[in-house]
Amino acid sequence: MAGRNFLFVPGPTNIPDRVMRSMVVAMEDHRSSRFPELTRNLFPDLMKLYGCDEGEVFIFPSTGTGAWEASLCNTLSPGDKVLAPRFGQFSHLWIDMMKRLGLEVEVLETPWGEGAPEDRIAAALKADTGHRIKGVMVVHNETATGVTSDIAGVRAAIDSAKHPALLYVDAVSSLGCIEVRMSEWKADLVVSGSQKGLMLPAGLGIVCASPRALEASAHAQLKRVFFDFGDMRKANKDGYFPYTPALSLLHGLRASLDMLFEEGLDNVYDRHAYLAAGVRKAVDAWGLETCCRVPRWQSNTVTAVMVPPGINGAHVIDVAFRRYNLALGAGLNIMAGKLFRIGHLGDLNELMLLGALAGVEMAMADVSIPVAPGSGVAAAQSYWRSHDPIPKRRVARSEVVYASHSTGSINA
Ligand code: PLP
Repeated sequence: MAGRNFLFVPGPTNIPDRVMRSMVVAMEDHRSSRFPELTRNLFPDLMKLYGCDEGEVFIFPSTGTGAWEASLCNTLSPGDKVLAPRFGQFSHLWIDMMKRLGLEVEVLETPWGEGAPEDRIAAALKADTGHRIKGVMVVHNETATGVTSDIAGVRAAIDSAKHPALLYVDAVSSLGCIEVRMSEWKADLVVSGSQKGLMLPAGLGIVCASPRALEASAHAQLKRVFFDFGDMRKANKDGYFPYTPALSLLHGLRASLDMLFEEGLDNVYDRHAYLAAGVRKAVDAWGLETCCRVPRWQSNTVTAVMVPPGINGAHVIDVAFRRYNLALGAGLNIMAGKLFRIGHLGDLNELMLLGALAGVEMAMADVSIPVAPGSGVAAAQSYWRSHDPIPKRRVARSEVVYASHSTGSINA
C-alpha cells in the first residue's frame, strides 16, 4: 500500500528516525576496553527514568515477558506464596507464569476494566498474619483494557497492613510515558521492555531492582541461569555483559533516552496525558464507552473502545488494516471481539493521532457502527486547540526559577 502504515497498536510503537539511525552500526567487540563508554551511562539514566534512587537496573536481551521471569526467579523460591490481582490479559499471563514457575498465587479476581483493588489487597495482607505472602504483583498499565492502576495506593495498602511483602510492578506499557516513581512507591522490582515508551524494536527486557530485592536474590531458590542477577551484576559493574549484548538496541536505547531527557520527562508525561485526553474526547463524541470504567484509572497510553452489541471489534480492526493501512490493537482473551484498542504512546503528536482517529471513524462507519463522520476528529481537535500540552503551572514554575537565577537570588 502506498504511504506509511499507521501503527497505532499499543506497542511496538513508532521508532523515531533518530533512534532508527542510531541503530545502524557496525558490530564491535563487546569485550573491548571501549565498550563500557556506551553502556556505563545507560544504567544510571534508566534509573532516572524509573524514578529509582537506590538499587540496580538490569538489561536483558529479551522482552517484557523475560523481564517478568527475571523479576520472579531472582527473588522467590519454589512454593512461595504471592498475591496478584487479575484484571486483564497481561496480569493473567504474568499470573500464569508465576504458577508455572512453582509459586502459590492468591489471585484477586477483578473485573476487566478496573484497576488493582487497593482495599482488597490491604485485606488479603492483613489476613496473612504469618507473612506467608512474599510478593504483591501489579500491572501498572494493563495494556489489554486501557487501565492504569494507582501504585502509590497499592503501596499505601501494603503499608496499612504493615506487611513486608515485596512490591512487583509491570511497567511494560507505562515506562517512558506515564510516570514511574519507583523509590517513592517503595517498589522492589519494576519490569519493562524496549518496544513501547522507549520507542525501540522489541528485544530488551529491563528490570529495576531495589536494595530489598537484591537482598532477596541472595536467598531465592528458583532456578535461573540466563536471567541471573548475580552474573549480570558481576559483568555490569565494569560496563560489560555476561553474554553477547544486543549491541544495536543498546545504541538505540542511548538515543531514545537522550530524546526523552531532551524533551524533559515531565513534558513527556504531560504530552501523553494531553494526547490521551483528546482520544477520550473522540470516543465520547462517537457515543461509545471505554473499557476502563473508573476515570481515575484511565490510561494515558492506550484507550480500549467498546464496540456496540452485534458488532465484532475484530471486524473494525481488519477493515482499518486492509482498507486504510491503520493498525489497531485487538481485544484479548475474554475481551476478544468486544473492543478495539488505540495505542497512543511513544513518538506521537496531535496530527498523527488525528489521522488514526479519522481512520477509526471510517472503519467503524464501514462496519455499520453509527458514527457521524468527523465527530471524533472534531472533538479531539477542539480539545487539543484549547489545551496546552505543558500545563501552565509548570511553565510558570520554570519561569520563576529562571527569573530568580537571572537576578542571582540564592533563594531559588
Ligand atoms: N506486560 C504488559 C503490560 C504488556 O503490555 C506486554 C506486552 O504487550 C507484556 C507484559 C509482555 O511483553 P513482551 O511482549 O515484550 O514480552
